[in-house]
Amino acid sequence: MTRILFWIALVALVIAAIRSKLRGMAPPPGQGAGPRQDRPAAREAETMIACAHCHVYFPESEAVKADGREYCSPDHARLPPA
Ligand SMILES: [Zn+2]
Repeated sequence: MTRILFWIALVALVIAAIRSKLRGMAPPPGQGAGPRQDRPAAREAETMIACAHCHVYFPESEAVKADGREYCSPDHARLPPA
């Protein structure tokens, strides 16, 4: 009888280990995955544009738009394009 209980416990442990491993490898989208894992990938896919003043590349979402041009910061938006 103890042998059967031992094997049941062992199988349950193996199943639990496999489940936790699968969860760690492939988190379902929009579920359980933390914002830390999502942000770097989203940043990499973002379009990079050059500042009209200093020509430094930065994410399009951070652009400061003035006179139809994109700038890296409000300070450069005030300065003339180089
Ligand atoms: Zn700039």
